[in-house]
Amino acid sequence: MNKIGIYYAYWTHEWDADFHPFIDKVADIGFDILETNAGTVARMTAEERRSLRSHADARGIALTYCIGLPHEFDIASPDATTRRKGISYLVQMAKSVGEMGGGKVGGIIYSSWPMNMPKGESDKRPYLERSIASMKEAAKAAEDNNVIFNVEVVNRFEQFLLNTCAEAVSYVGAVGSPNVKILLDTFHLNIEEDFVGEAIIRAGDSLGHLHIGENNRMPPGYGHIPWTEIGAALRQIHYTGDVVMEPFLMPGGQVGADIKVYRDLSVGLDLDEEARKALLFMRGVLK
Ligand code: MN
Repeated sequence: MNKIGIYYAYWTHEWDADFHPFIDKVADIGFDILETNAGTVARMTAEERRSLRSHADARGIALTYCIGLPHEFDIASPDATTRRKGISYLVQMAKSVGEMGGGKVGGIIYSSWPMNMPKGESDKRPYLERSIASMKEAAKAAEDNNVIFNVEVVNRFEQFLLNTCAEAVSYVGAVGSPNVKILLDTFHLNIEEDFVGEAIIRAGDSLGHLHIGENNRMPPGYGHIPWTEIGAALRQIHYTGDVVMEPFLMPGGQVGADIKVYRDLSVGLDLDEEARKALLFMRGVLK
């Protein structure tokens, strides 16, 4: 059975947060996983990481880690110094997560976020080639620290390198590390893929992590994402991995700005109660 989790930023306006209260909250609601911010975890002291790990263990919560790399750490950049900084940052994240027993670091870890194709450019191949070369290097740290790097396929309005699952399959094939896999997200698949189920089947054994959310980033159950098709596709590829919902309802702060939440989708809703309902809904989809 898949473990089901939720991303902490559902409840926050800023990316940096104290994850301890969220461990208790998601455990009380009934989730198996709390997805945290890999950047925040990498900046913690070893003692803070130990404390987070032991709290999560005490509540029976698994931790996963997510990040969109800031521009200064873009591993696809034409600038070698920037790529070098980005590789170091990924290595630091792998070591930090490794200290906590290892696990999954996913997101836009192959370039930076949010990012358009630079003005005047129309060929993304040099960006992909640089990213693949950087990722090959960073992957060694993942392998040494029991970490899986999952490259997230996102829509064209947020990034330009990996917009479809087919592009990600080609990318992880070129990197060629068992510790570099694919993160698919139903919100992004809905925008870019012909058929969501087919995209999941195309990922197959390379699917390392799954984000779920509605077409409007509401909690699963509120929109028109084809959940029955998704459940069938996941069963077809025998996906036993983690499934993490990533709803964003609140405008405001850096989270609201980056996610482009320009209207309050939470009006009249109790966020904890909605998370509970979405969890029950997904247990039905994934059964
Ligand atoms: Mn996502």
